[in-house]
Amino acid sequence: MSSSTDIEHSIEEQCARRGMRMTEQRRIIAQVIERADDHPDVEELYRRASAIDIGISLSTVYRTLNLFEEAGLVTKHDFKDGRARFEPIPDEHHDHLIDIRNGRVIEFRNEEIEAIQEVIARRLGYKLVDHRLELYAVPIGERMPEVPQPVEDQTQPVEDQTQPAPSKEKPR
Ligand SMILES: [Zn+2]
Repeated sequence: MSSSTDIEHSIEEQCARRGMRMTEQRRIIAQVIERADDHPDVEELYRRASAIDIGISLSTVYRTLNLFEEAGLVTKHDFKDGRARFEPIPDEHHDHLIDIRNGRVIEFRNEEIEAIQEVIARRLGYKLVDHRLELYAVPIGERMPEVPQPVEDQTQPVEDQTQPAPSKEKPR
């Protein structure tokens, strides 16, 4: 969500604070990411940025995104559809529900889930410092394409039961 567009927290401002060199093209890319609320992928960011400045190349968008990601200003998501998707680091943590028919992403936050994850980590002997939760879903009433079997409630250390989709990060 683009709630962090106020100047203090803008990517551009944070880059300046870190002493990063800001070119006009980087500035445009930063603004495009901040304005997006749909977790766009690189190609989509490139489309939007090059609509503002035709001189911006796809590789510039790639490089700039990597730079922002390394600086901790932007986070990358893998929503299992083979394309990395980006959003600015949000001020407040949220999780995602992904509509697997069309890749639409809905943000949510649930305090019970937040709390139970801490409990689970503690039971396993850990203090939770971060998490990611992604729900893959279709609208109610719609037939499911093939879905991974739900993982049983497990609070014991177990083999990783999640079945990540075969990585199909295709270079474009
Ligand atoms: Zn998000």
